[in-house]
Amino acid sequence: MRVVSLRLTASQWRLITEHLTRELPNEACGLLGGCAGVVEQVIAVENAARSPVRYRMDPARQLEAMLAIEAAGLELTAIYHSHPHGPATPSLTDIAEAYYPDSLYLICSPDAHGQWRGRAFRIVNGQVSETPVVVE
Ligand SMILES: [Zn+2]
Repeated sequence: MRVVSLRLTASQWRLITEHLTRELPNEACGLLGGCAGVVEQVIAVENAARSPVRYRMDPARQLEAMLAIEAAGLELTAIYHSHPHGPATPSLTDIAEAYYPDSLYLICSPDAHGQWRGRAFRIVNGQVSETPVVVE
């Protein structure tokens, strides 16, 4: 099914942004399990790169998270990570390393007031298209 938006509840969005804030100044990352763009699960994954400018999911933690999503009968709806210094758009590295064409990439950066803002993208064969994020 074609996903037309990434839908999160306010409490899921809070879980994500608390995780992003906790990991500052480094990038933080995680997986969102769901169905048809509606998020059901937020799973923080350790950023093994421990860097303010890149992320690399700890492979064992990423596998555990993938299995948890599958065990719940859900899909990998999105992969989230932060750009602490912005912008909330995919970097060239993000595009080159986008291995999940069926998943969305949720990228978050702080606005001028320090509030996290997220934008979602589909990245297929180097082509980037934006999908709206809805927090309800
Ligand atoms: Zn990035």
